[in-house]
Amino acid sequence: MNNIRQGNKQLIKELNRALVINTILNYGPLSRTRIAELTDLNLSTISNIVSDLISKELIHETGEGKSKGGRKPILLEFNSNEKSVLGIKIGLDGIVVGLLNLKSKILDKKFVPCPIKQEEKSILEFLSKAIQALLRKNKTKLEEIVGCGIGISGLVNQKEGYLVFSPILQWKKVRFREILEEKFKFPVFIDKDVNTLALAEKRFGAGKNINHFICITIGKGVGAGVVINGEIYYGGYGGAGDFGHITIEKDGPRCYCGKNGCLEIFSSDQFIINRMKEFLAKKDSQEIKNFFSAKKDLTLLSAQEILELATKGEILSQSIFRELGENLAWGIMNLISLFDPELILIGGDGAKAGELIFNPIRGKIKEYFPFKPELKILPTQTGEDGWITGAAELVLQEVFKTPIFKPKKEVVLKSAFHW
Ligand SMILES: [Zn+2]
Repeated sequence: MNNIRQGNKQLIKELNRALVINTILNYGPLSRTRIAELTDLNLSTISNIVSDLISKELIHETGEGKSKGGRKPILLEFNSNEKSVLGIKIGLDGIVVGLLNLKSKILDKKFVPCPIKQEEKSILEFLSKAIQALLRKNKTKLEEIVGCGIGISGLVNQKEGYLVFSPILQWKKVRFREILEEKFKFPVFIDKDVNTLALAEKRFGAGKNINHFICITIGKGVGAGVVINGEIYYGGYGGAGDFGHITIEKDGPRCYCGKNGCLEIFSSDQFIINRMKEFLAKKDSQEIKNFFSAKKDLTLLSAQEILELATKGEILSQSIFRELGENLAWGIMNLISLFDPELILIGGDGAKAGELIFNPIRGKIKEYFPFKPELKILPTQTGEDGWITGAAELVLQEVFKTPIFKPKKEVVLKSAFHW
């Protein structure tokens, strides 16, 4: 508990200021009277804070609201375009660099292919160029950026801001924070991509107002962001939620992590491809053969093509997705036993199979947890943009955090309450 600040006049002043800023940011435009109703602060305190915020151009007056008798109230709105934030998603499919305003609205985004198997220096130079190009295009100055959040596939040291290892990207130790902060002079945050998606779902998606939920992503890999008491749970070393590497078959095939029978082997894109190759080897579906006849090299099959086949109603490929759903259900049941979440969200490219995987999962959960009828299994709601919105959220949650705790040593960011 020693990270809580000492109670004094300064802290009360900052707390009230934070309360007013966050209320206008999240619920604005609002009148001073409405802020008083929502915050329980008295009107003179609010007027003082508001005058200061207007003089610092953090908020502005924006027309008049409806009158309940008497003078029409003047509405206040947050200047969300005064500053911007960068949200970046790095994955095998490519890098998306997003420019967002302080209300998490995406102003622009740029897609670049991902450099594979490269060294730290060239990766960071490549990323820097993509950032610079986006800023130049939008005429955004470096000093307008409050910070940059990065979501990446792999094991991340969040405290020190570097990627430890990414098996999917084949990258080892990339010091994103140290090198990008040195170059751009804005604070940089990095986290596992699935945690950033969980943050986006918590703020804007299906996890809104839910304290305990787990956001699972399936696709090339399998991972989970665990939200406990409204916050991401990191564990002791930042690696919590390594859902793809729980063992579901102890004598199963070897996984690249060194263990046998990991869940990822039975529920990632590679599982779909492997199963289809088995079917093709048996040549027991003419429809599959017809579908792929134009393809010269069947070793280059993608999960996306197999999903297209399933969507067209081909029975064998549909059965692959149902089997994947059942495999995933075993892992999810372990999560439910461990964390007792109110909600399980499933996102990522693999979730595009929709009911084909959701039905077997829901069936199993209903069967084994009949006493938890309220527990919901839903697709993520924030879509493709959730990744960069969530990455930006790494910055914004620090900027607008209630200042009750002493600042973390590793965070060099100035909170909005001190602007
Ligand atoms: Zn594994």
